[in-house]
Amino acid sequence: MDTIAAISTAPAIGGIGIIRLSGDKTFEIIKKIFVPKNVQKIEEIKGNSIKYGVIVDEGKIIDEVLVSFFKEPKSYTRENMCEINSHGGILIVRKILEICLKNGAILAEPGEFTKRAFLNGRIDLAQAESVIDIINAKTNREIEASVKQLEGNLSKEISKIRKKIMDLMVDIEASIDYPEYDVEEVTYANAINILENIRKELEKLSNSFENGKIIKEGISLAIIGKPNAGKSSLLNEFLKEERAIVTDIEGTTRDTIEEEISIEGIPFKIIDTAGIRESNDKIEKIGIEKSKKVALNSDIILAIFDSSKNLDKEDFEIINFIKNKNAIIILNKIDLKENNETVTEISKTGKDIIKISVLEKKGIEKIYEKLVEKFNLNEINIDNENIITNIRHKDLIDCAKQNATEAINAVKTNLPIDIVAINIKEILENLGKITGESVSDDIIKEIFSKFCLGK
Ligand code: GDP
Repeated sequence: MDTIAAISTAPAIGGIGIIRLSGDKTFEIIKKIFVPKNVQKIEEIKGNSIKYGVIVDEGKIIDEVLVSFFKEPKSYTRENMCEINSHGGILIVRKILEICLKNGAILAEPGEFTKRAFLNGRIDLAQAESVIDIINAKTNREIEASVKQLEGNLSKEISKIRKKIMDLMVDIEASIDYPEYDVEEVTYANAINILENIRKELEKLSNSFENGKIIKEGISLAIIGKPNAGKSSLLNEFLKEERAIVTDIEGTTRDTIEEEISIEGIPFKIIDTAGIRESNDKIEKIGIEKSKKVALNSDIILAIFDSSKNLDKEDFEIINFIKNKNAIIILNKIDLKENNETVTEISKTGKDIIKISVLEKKGIEKIYEKLVEKFNLNEINIDNENIITNIRHKDLIDCAKQNATEAINAVKTNLPIDIVAINIKEILENLGKITGESVSDDIIKEIFSKFCLGK
């Protein structure tokens, strides 16, 4: 395989920049461009060591660097590798990369280092995919889930299921090959047991995707309400900063504002919408329509009302709007005199109601508590179980589950054992696509193309 090189640090000014090399010719290239201090020969440098020296090009010193040496198979890619730590200027790292290319390396494709780690068997496909998830993670929980996947927890579980299926296949093949031994009945009873068990395990994994989705994508929360109910103030309280403009002139938050906060480690995308009310203003109308749309698409709505005022037509419209939606009612401004009628009317909605005063910072914690309760955030326990965070994995698990159901039905309806065998083989195939045992080159290419350069 070619020796590849790429800049692994972000294309920005920083303390250091890293240029990575991997492949057979790595040390040969390094020998031509790196002059270590106090070392006679590059060949004498041990793996897992760092050497200080200079990068040279046509006899000229280019930069003062540290070079890390990794000898195969003890490297990220399982190939010979070097990482040149140069000064972190955009130009200098590019210059060193060019020197590597000039001396025999070729430019790595996005994700190619990780792809080699996969192709050389150091990690499987699910583990490789977790690398990109770690890089893109927005929350600590997401990092934890991805690191577990990188450690191979999901792969181990998939392998365990595959092992059970392979054992079953051995039995089935025996009964196909030696029908005279009449092992079929035993095999059928055994097969149903094993397949039911596998289907349950696959279902559990598939269901974990909901949690995985929450960890990865977070929860979208729309704050809706009439102008002046306190939407922007609440958003600001969530953010503890003045992001939305808080004023007492109605209709100032014309467009939606999105911010992200973290509750119990889960990202919440909070959307402060334009106040929902009747309006003749063209631009405001667009804003209001957008608010409704955003609220419709969100995972949960916080509908905020002014508890000191009478409810009017617009308030009732909002109450009607949230009727069949996942919504919590927030009664704001409890520091003012409570309007009994309003509170009574709101109680009739049957929704969860939380009384707060953003002004006096009262009751805000009850909103957090309710959200934790509603989304079972305390139960999202990354420690004890595998959580599927990748839609590709979820789809394949669902396919395997379907294959298991078909295999069970085939056994139950006494279909010939070779038909059962086909369904069972499909379970293997689909699970193998998760870990990469049975996946096409196109899919591999697509997965790694989403990586960044130098990873
Ligand atoms: P929005 O139009 O719904 O976004 O409402 P704002 O957040 O802009 O608030 C409108 C007005 O209500 C501002 O003058 C806020 O200071 C005031 N306000 C917000 N929350 C409270 C509260 O809990 N109590 C009182 N008394 N006033 C509040």
